This record gives sequence, C-alpha cells and structure tokens, in this order.
Amino acid sequence: MNVLFLGAPGSGKGTQSKKIETEFNIPQISTGDLLRAETASGSDMGEELKKIMSSGKFVSDEVVLELVSKKITSDECKNGFILDGFPRNLSQASSLDTLLTNLNVSLEYVFLIDVPTDLIIKRCVGRVTCNKCGKIENEYFSDIKEGDTCEDAGVYVKRADDNEETVTNRLKVYGEQTEPIINFYEEKGILHRIIGGEDGPQRLTDEIISIIKS
Ligand code: AMP
Repeated sequence: MNVLFLGAPGSGKGTQSKKIETEFNIPQISTGDLLRAETASGSDMGEELKKIMSSGKFVSDEVVLELVSKKITSDECKNGFILDGFPRNLSQASSLDTLLTNLNVSLEYVFLIDVPTDLIIKRCVGRVTCNKCGKIENEYFSDIKEGDTCEDAGVYVKRADDNEETVTNRLKVYGEQTEPIINFYEEKGILHRIIGGEDGPQRLTDEIISIIKS
C-alpha cells in the first residue's frame, strides 16, 4: 500500500501519517524529518539546509528526490510507504511518477488534510515534538510545554521554523507551489479530501482508516 499525505504546514499530515504507519505497519517517509536529521549532523550540506529551512523556502528538488528514492527503494519499504511532505511542487510530483513507474508500483491514496488557515498558525507556533519518539503535542491545546518530558523520557522541543514569521512564509510557498499538486492527483482520481478542525486528530484518523479499509 502506497499512500501520500498533502496539506499545508501544521495541517496535521505528520500526525496522521504516524498513526497510519502504526495502524498498517508501513513506514512513513517525511522529507522534513530526513532533512532535519541532515541539519543535525553538522555537515556542510546540513548547514546549507538549515539556512534554507529556517527561511521557510524549499530545498532543491534534487536533494529531496535523492533522499526519497533511497528510502523508497530500500528493503524497509518493500510492503509500501507513506509519503509525508513530498512531493511539494509539480516538478517533484512528476519525478515521483517516473520513479514509481520505473519501480512498477503506484500510489493508491492521496489524502489532502484541509484545515482553515486561522488554525494553521496556532498549530505550528504551538507545536512541540518529543525528540525521542517523535510524538507531536501542542502548547495551545494541551498542558504540555517546550522542555517537558515525554512518557519515554524524551524532551519536547520546538522546531526552528515554527515561528510566526517563517510559518507565514511557508504558507505563502505552499499556496504558490504545492496547491497546484492537488489538481494533479484529483485528475488521477486518487485524491481524498479530509476536512480538519479543532476537534483533534482521531476523527480524521478514523476517516482515513475507513477509506483505506473500504
Ligand atoms: P516539513 O517538516 O514537512 O514541514 O518540512 C520542513 C521544511 O523542510 C520545509 O519548509 C522545507 O524547507 C523543507 N522540505 C521538506 N520537504 C521538502 C520538499 N519535498 N521539497 C523541498 N523542501 C522540503
């Protein structure tokens, strides 16, 4: 089963892909996570990526495509994958098509997590992530704050690009470059629009699971 999550920054696609990963035992491939791991390595490339990501711009198509191809063709993905944060523009969508055609596999589901813009900023600015298990919480919607300890003894940290200025930029780039992909997958007949709101992630997860199981 090959799945793709689309959505603005803070729409909750990371949260949903992790839940679907657990439910169906298929690995999530988050280009944002892969790039953040590279920035943490302290390499020259990592330093360059840090600058681009903290401005809210996209890193080059070549860099992300290489990361994604390496993962998709690895043994870990032999039963499928969940793409989160890739593709993010039409050129990446077309490269993904070519890669999948060459591998003789296809995408079965594209889920677009559609959340009102006024909620997005709060979702991003309040987001904290456990640095051990990757669990995502929000300072606005729970008692958990940056620096608190998670159940697994990890610490909740904030992403460097989750400040209001960068989030505004990321939303602008999303509108200009990523939204056109919605049509691309709608025309293929595999797009499912999931409407998010203030009522937490579980209703969306249930809807996604029921679409996959049907
Ligand atoms: P995310 O964790 O998905 O919100 O991604 C964080 C940042 O990583 C983005 O704002 C981009 O700078 C970069 N990034 C992640 N995925 C991609 C991609 N597919 N293409 C270009 N840049 C990306």
